[in-house]
Amino acid sequence: MNQHLRPEPVPFIDIGAQRLRLGQAIDDAVGRVLTHCQFINGPEVTQLEAALAAFSGARHVVTCASGTDALVMVLMAKGVGRGDAVFCPSFTFCATGEAVALAGATPVFVDVDEATFNMEVNSLKRGIATARRLGLKPKAVMPVDLFGQSADHDAIAAIAEAEGLFILDDAAQAFGASYKGRRLGTFGLATATSFFPAKPLGCYGDGGAIFTDDAQLAETLRSIRVHGQGSDKYDNVRLGLTGRLDTIQAAVLLEKLRIFDDEIAARNKVAERYARSLGNIVTVPRVTEGNTSIWACYTIRLPKGTDRAAFAASLQAQGVPSAIYYVKSVHMQTAYAGYPVADGGLPVCEALSSDVISLPVHAYLDEPTQERVIKAVRDALT
Ligand SMILES: *Cc1c(COP(=O)(O)O)cnc(C)c1O
Repeated sequence: MNQHLRPEPVPFIDIGAQRLRLGQAIDDAVGRVLTHCQFINGPEVTQLEAALAAFSGARHVVTCASGTDALVMVLMAKGVGRGDAVFCPSFTFCATGEAVALAGATPVFVDVDEATFNMEVNSLKRGIATARRLGLKPKAVMPVDLFGQSADHDAIAAIAEAEGLFILDDAAQAFGASYKGRRLGTFGLATATSFFPAKPLGCYGDGGAIFTDDAQLAETLRSIRVHGQGSDKYDNVRLGLTGRLDTIQAAVLLEKLRIFDDEIAARNKVAERYARSLGNIVTVPRVTEGNTSIWACYTIRLPKGTDRAAFAASLQAQGVPSAIYYVKSVHMQTAYAGYPVADGGLPVCEALSSDVISLPVHAYLDEPTQERVIKAVRDALT
């Protein structure tokens, strides 16, 4: 094919377009930090925590250095460690299980629901029994709100309550989404999110936050993020981390939060168009009645027998990128092969890994570009 006739490649996520829109506002926000020089614990950090609390409805927000730290810090604060079992879906980014292992506890992987890609409650129940059989102490459930859609929080809460487990929601991909009219950040004991640049609300580096209504937990988390510091600066009362969010990142996030609702609406428009135009040829993602998704990923399932590599190559030839989240569920990856899975295995996680593929989705994908993506998918399948 003649290189010059190739269409411009479509960006998978377009951080540059958002940067253009924010323009001088971001430069000014960063400039203010460069002027006051409080690079750690500057006023923007406190402002951001208040803004995130207002946005989510959570009483306390503790910002931190990454989404992974957000998960680890809650497990540390709750004293989760050796001999404890924490239940995680396996069809997720590795950090979900990694945080449990870093805390010294055992991740027990459970299966997901075929329609929503989120934790499946019967497998969760089996996983709890598996953990007991292995002599582990069931301690916590970590649902993931995968690809931007809330997990089934009511069903998970009912099991957690019956079993005496606390819930740490991994909303790294879904901050901004809601479940039965309430925004994520208010389900379970605590919610963790990530501000990695590619997440729906991303900063210009690494960052994360923890949301909770528990004042005691929030206080412990504030200590953990500064090496476990106590009221006496020279007497650290527990183990902690260098777990803080930089002031510059907080300043960036404050500007991005102002346009976040508008971006959420734009992402939903893209997802609606994809669903209308592709729903008859591939399995498009389904949002459960009463939920909203923030569309961190637009993940379709290809019809049985489709050669996924050839499909991706066909898209690529038309300048349309794609990605496979996740080629391997966490329990199938080398570092996690030694951890238990729920009795009955994880057949849905394994089936999804073989036929999912994610299409470009972001708030700046204009209609002609959406049509290009749609046409590329149709062409690749016919
Ligand atoms: C991105 C992500 C994390 C980790 O966030 P980082 O900020 O990259 O540490 C955790 N869980 C899930 C589901 C994620 O997608």
